Amino acid sequence: MSVSIAIVGAGPGGFYTAAALIKSGPDCRIDMIEALPAPYGLIRGGVAPDHQRTKAVTRTFAKIAAHERVAYFGCVRLGRDVSLAELRDRYDAVVLALGAPLDRKLAVSGGDLPGVYGAASFVGWYNGHPDFADLAPDLNVKRVCVIGNGNVALDVARVLVKTPSEMASSDLPDHAAKAIQGAAIQEVAVIGRRGPLQAKFTNKELRELGGLADCLPCTDAEDMPDAVTGVAAGRAKRLAEKNLETFRDFACREAAERRKRIRFFFNARPAEVLGEGRVEGLRLERTRLRDGRAQGTGETFDLSCGLVVSAIGYRMAPLEGVPMDTETGVVRNRDGRVEAGLYVVGWAKRGPTGVIGTNKHDGDAAAAQIALDAGPGGRPGRGALEELLRSRGIRWIDFQDWRRIDAAEIAAAPKGAPRQKLIRINDMLAILD
Ligand SMILES: Cc1cc2nc3c(=O)[nH]c(=O)nc-3n(C[C@H](O)[C@H](O)[C@H](O)COP(=O)(O)OP(=O)(O)OC[C@H]3O[C@@H](n4cnc5c(N)ncnc54)[C@H](O)[C@@H]3O)c2cc1C
Repeated sequence: MSVSIAIVGAGPGGFYTAAALIKSGPDCRIDMIEALPAPYGLIRGGVAPDHQRTKAVTRTFAKIAAHERVAYFGCVRLGRDVSLAELRDRYDAVVLALGAPLDRKLAVSGGDLPGVYGAASFVGWYNGHPDFADLAPDLNVKRVCVIGNGNVALDVARVLVKTPSEMASSDLPDHAAKAIQGAAIQEVAVIGRRGPLQAKFTNKELRELGGLADCLPCTDAEDMPDAVTGVAAGRAKRLAEKNLETFRDFACREAAERRKRIRFFFNARPAEVLGEGRVEGLRLERTRLRDGRAQGTGETFDLSCGLVVSAIGYRMAPLEGVPMDTETGVVRNRDGRVEAGLYVVGWAKRGPTGVIGTNKHDGDAAAAQIALDAGPGGRPGRGALEELLRSRGIRWIDFQDWRRIDAAEIAAAPKGAPRQKLIRINDMLAILD
């Protein structure tokens, strides 16, 4: 008898778990349950549309989905179509690979004014995530403030200032391309509460800004320390050194041939979003570093802006039957084991850190835990899930169906682009009908 395993969420965490189970887990059948028709999680809905090479790992994931021991259940949402208790009744092991899809809230006065977006929704909008298809942010603004000093903040800034020809080989969907091309944006301010040495940008993404066709990155020489101090030796120090060199190269200068700016503001934290009825500006408080943490000085300054995107972290969405750490926004676990029969991987386990490959360790750990806990198996798995979904009139799609949707997107690609994304679930399903 084989062990029945449900992996909920078909992002990197889910796929690395399936791969590890196939390679070294117990004799098992694996069902991947995904809320959207499209697999791949943030690789499709988060990774920037102009970073296509990063998305190449989906080819490996597609082979896993097509493996004889794996079945794909797209359009099935845990908590809506099926409960965790129902899955646990039917499967010997359930792995939560749900990611961390909620934004950490910008907790300042005015933080909920129209024109303030969390990165999850804003990035989801320009990446064609169906949940954010109707976001329609008003880009008829001169300055956008992006809060946060990680790669997500750089992605947002870059996508907003690239020229149409720079985006021609991206999979930026039509609705977002039109809005961004028609935008009045002249400056994107990238704001960090700590200094340039503490910024979490990877150096490659930072340097990329120096080569933009119509935009200059711009830093204030006064923000730049003379040397890298107060950063632990090793990798963090090497990154800080490289970034400092790059920031120095970005020292503000005039260049008439480039119309736009990405301007870095360091040692400043949001104190208030200003505006009557919608965003008109951002009040920032200057900070100073104490023991590596940003401390307010009481001194403030204002930046006028028409749009604020806060990229300050993500949390998991609470789910019935899943113990969560409310402070960190992840599922409580011990190296991926929530309890016997229930496991967690990826961002739902660790929070929003690391790169796609970081999730591989989680998959390996979960597969090892399952092998230890599983015993001979015996729960019915796939057939019982299909029966339950049918009894509820829930339509799911399998991986062949996804391949047809994928092929339709690729066939509709504008010249030079990899695909034209379908952004509504009904339009995806219509391909199959
Ligand atoms: C904006 C952004 C840009 C990034 N860019 C890069 C990059 O360039 N390079 C890089 O290496 N990493 C990048 N990352 C990080 C990388 O995307 C993550 O490490 C990785 O996606 C996390 O994998 P995951 O499986 O934990 O979560 P996710 O990728 O979020 O996958 C979770 C999956 O679970 C599904 N799901 C959620 N809830 C339910 C439910 N209730 N029922 C069923 N299914 C559900 C979701 O639809 C999703 O498909 C980026 C992240 C972000 C946010």
